Amino acid sequence: MSELLDRHRAVLPDWLALYYEEPIEIVHAAGRRVTDSTGRTYLDLFAGILTNAIGYDVAEISDAVRKQLDTGVLHTSTLYLIRQQVELAEKIAKLSGIPDAKVFFTNSGTEANETALMLATQYRRSNQVLAMRNSYHGRAFATVGITGNRGWAASALSPVKVSYVHGGYPYRSPFGELSEKDYIAACVADLRDVIQTTTAGDVACMIAEPIQGVGGFCTPPDGLFGAFAEVLREYGILLISDEVQTGWGRTGEHFWGMQAHDVVPDMMTFAKGLGNGLAIGGLIARKDVMDCLTANSISTFGGNPVAATGAHATLDYVLEHDLQANAARQGARMLAGLREIAAANPIVGDVRGKGLMIGVELVEPGGKEPSPRAAVRVLEHTKARNLLVGKGGMHNNVIRLAPPMTLTDDEVEEALAGLGAAIAAATQDLE
Ligand code: PLP
Repeated sequence: MSELLDRHRAVLPDWLALYYEEPIEIVHAAGRRVTDSTGRTYLDLFAGILTNAIGYDVAEISDAVRKQLDTGVLHTSTLYLIRQQVELAEKIAKLSGIPDAKVFFTNSGTEANETALMLATQYRRSNQVLAMRNSYHGRAFATVGITGNRGWAASALSPVKVSYVHGGYPYRSPFGELSEKDYIAACVADLRDVIQTTTAGDVACMIAEPIQGVGGFCTPPDGLFGAFAEVLREYGILLISDEVQTGWGRTGEHFWGMQAHDVVPDMMTFAKGLGNGLAIGGLIARKDVMDCLTANSISTFGGNPVAATGAHATLDYVLEHDLQANAARQGARMLAGLREIAAANPIVGDVRGKGLMIGVELVEPGGKEPSPRAAVRVLEHTKARNLLVGKGGMHNNVIRLAPPMTLTDDEVEEALAGLGAAIAAATQDLE
């Protein structure tokens, strides 16, 4: 065990997830590659944790942040006007598609979702929330309290009442093999049943990830949330789209994941990719929802001038280089390549996703039983081939691929060659 790992274990919480039998320390990064403290360089197919949307050491971002630092204004207080925040909010509000949108900046996805839940419960005067099974929305009190994923349900106590709805994880659907249309109909019937039988009817909101992130990049059929929204409207229930992983064009076909469902949510939350490594998150809401708070509120660091400057430069980079289109193109090539790899390896049960958000679900050879041990083997074998990938899923058996959206043609080839070899090696380990 390395000296740093010893020190980490001594002073940091046991529950902080760490990858690899021998965890790595990243000391340098450029393009889509990171270098560890032993001098080894990896192609990062997880973009940090979907945080480094455009990759590392991008001059446009570093220059903008440096210029802001040079002003000396590391002053952070929303008690005063912050030009960088106003300008970023204007751009995000316009991109959101939400009518009369307002934006509140936070430091993380967790805080963004906590704020969304606070506003929804206040607006509706109800603390009843609907969430999806297998969902994850953050690690604070309310967000942990509503997670639908056992592996992340850290606290038994929750300040909100939550009921769970099916739909996010079609590969392990309780409804059996159905066409997409019938699957959506079954999920809508379940939603109605959940509202009618497990709540008092006065539900504040439904919160959902358009593609479940921590849950294993589970991808519901297009239109599911649009169909849900029709039911929610009948009851006046607000729809919150958690776009922390799916925002900023990562899913390729759309800028926001929820757009695949033909519905404009009442609120959207974001974080991760916007800062390209800097800490920034936030919430976009209809004006009447955002302004329903009567008490004072503040985020001391949320949208501070440095983070807002970096985020604005990142957003401009995504738009000017049309990285959404690159995510669609490279994502389609990755998906096709992975489906070929799946056909040759019985430990791959499912390949799914959109754009550069692709999940590879691993199973015991030939069947459908989740195989967390296969995922551990693939993680180690990809590392040995100088690739970093993510892991997750309800059963910890899903390899998650979400490289920076600047991924190139050559890097797709390199990634597929390494993934193919790693998955084949893991298949052999299991046989
Ligand atoms: N929502 C989703 C969908 C996430 O994937 C995450 C983090 O993984 C969060 C919220 C929480 O974000 P953060 O870790 O920035 O608090």
